[in-house]
Amino acid sequence: SIAVGHPFTLQASKRDYPKIYWRDRSFIMINSVISGVWAAIFLLNSIIPLVLDKPYKIVASNVLIVAGVIFSILIPERLPAYLHMRRFKKYDWRVEVDQGRSRAEDEYDVVIVGSGIGGLTCGALLSKRGYRILVLEQHYQVGGYCSSFTRAGFTFNVGVSDVSGLWEKGPVALFLRGLGLKPEDLFIRNRLRYVFRGETIEAKDLEEFVEVLSELFPAERGSVRRFFDDAAMAYEECYREVEAYGVPLPAELIVKVFGPKKLLNYPGEHPHFYDWMNKTFSEKLDEYFEDSGLKRLLCALIGYVGVRPEEMPASSALTAIISYYLHGGYFPRGGAQSYAETLRKFIENHDGVVLLRHRVDEILVEDQRVRGVRLGGKLFKAPVVVANANAKTTFLKLVGEDKLDRRFAEYIRGLKMSPSCFAVFLGVDMDLRDYPSIIVNLDDGFYLAINSNADPSLAPRDKASVMILTEANYRDFPERGTSEYARLKNRLAGELVKKAEKLIPDLSKHI
Ligand SMILES: Cc1cc2nc3c(=O)[nH]c(=O)nc-3n(C[C@H](O)[C@H](O)[C@H](O)COP(=O)(O)OP(=O)(O)OC[C@H]3O[C@@H](n4cnc5c(N)ncnc54)[C@H](O)[C@@H]3O)c2cc1C
Repeated sequence: SIAVGHPFTLQASKRDYPKIYWRDRSFIMINSVISGVWAAIFLLNSIIPLVLDKPYKIVASNVLIVAGVIFSILIPERLPAYLHMRRFKKYDWRVEVDQGRSRAEDEYDVVIVGSGIGGLTCGALLSKRGYRILVLEQHYQVGGYCSSFTRAGFTFNVGVSDVSGLWEKGPVALFLRGLGLKPEDLFIRNRLRYVFRGETIEAKDLEEFVEVLSELFPAERGSVRRFFDDAAMAYEECYREVEAYGVPLPAELIVKVFGPKKLLNYPGEHPHFYDWMNKTFSEKLDEYFEDSGLKRLLCALIGYVGVRPEEMPASSALTAIISYYLHGGYFPRGGAQSYAETLRKFIENHDGVVLLRHRVDEILVEDQRVRGVRLGGKLFKAPVVVANANAKTTFLKLVGEDKLDRRFAEYIRGLKMSPSCFAVFLGVDMDLRDYPSIIVNLDDGFYLAINSNADPSLAPRDKASVMILTEANYRDFPERGTSEYARLKNRLAGELVKKAEKLIPDLSKHI
């Protein structure tokens, strides 16, 4: 029965565990182990009478049966936890940082390479816990992609304009409240519109969105409702224990924080989310919908993740796409830079240091341990270095392949960079207040953000700051700084503005 993948204990286990477990590989594996153990016990019990005399053979066979029962009770709880922890153990290092120790001036508890929103978030959380932090940023301002620039009174975000996770138990809201900041002081709700097959689709909340979709796709009315009910339940389950840690936990941390029983019970207690964890986004869409147009529309925000629906775990779609339908997206008040600056001030107010125009050349590793970082001839020492640079830069350039396990270095070299895009920033002397702050145009394949509609302080009075964004592969571009590059850039910019003019007539005359 083990050989054909149907271990004989499976039937009994299916009575004890709900359906959601049955497809799981570890469910079959645990049953194979238990079936194997019982097979061995039965075999031994058939041999024991041949080799032992009366009182001993009864005792021995009963001891074996009791051991089998205890094993069968304990193993479903312990084995998955053990396997997850074993995989995780390699990364479960611990560095003791004595916060009270005396340090040299160039010595910190933690050095963070890069002040993107990841580096700043990490820096804020650690400095709040009393660690002495140094953030080193190569650019002249903090924020990475979560930053802005201003020209002639118009402010533009270079990237981030629509942030999720700001509902009551959302990770960004929990993070901010943990720092003593009020999410509503820092973010404003976006108004978003889709343009699809010539139709304008806008809804102020989920209820209205479900209604609008049902009217557009009447044959799918029931499925739209069921899809969003399922998604809302899965989403609630995903964030059910979020307050313990600020974010939903991966399996190994569920074991560490809540214990092995929680991991065993996880699928039963989170059946909807568990189903989303084990399917791709396109499988989930196919499960509910026939209409390919509706499926395409529900993938409108897929650029936020950057992979195709058939490659994307449905659970990622839930947290990075569906969350916008359920709880809305938010614009950083004052622009993305302003949010990044808030975190920088928090770090500095907690004895941390943020240095701009400081590019790290090397993460120092000695005897398999991080010792600090080097910038030119300058060293900063720390027992912990957090790299906010991407994985390739961090491991291949800053740490160096000679310090890495060969297989790990190969894995890093094989990683694909995330997709790139092309953006046009326009300051226009037009009053665009009747438009929403974000328009996703699926017909012409572009994304338009009117930053000043979310926050009017980002453009002079009666004018607007506009960003138009489309997918573009950086590999298709000639080298930066060449005349071919400039020509292609101007041509693409002109084409994008022309497309946007279908939505905002005469846009090009008001730049
Ligand atoms: C056009 C665009 C629009 C986007 N819109 C949204 C949105 O609306 N909502 C949303 O949630 N997300 C959005 N994103 C995604 C989001 O911007 C990123 O996921 C996020 O900002 C990445 O933050 P990070 O801290 O991981 O990295 P980064 O922002 O890349 O920060 C890394 C930092 O490290 C610094 N650094 C690197 N190497 C070194 C070194 N050797 N020494 C010193 N410093 C170094 C870099 O200069 C940079 O400041 C968008 C992205 C883009 C490109």
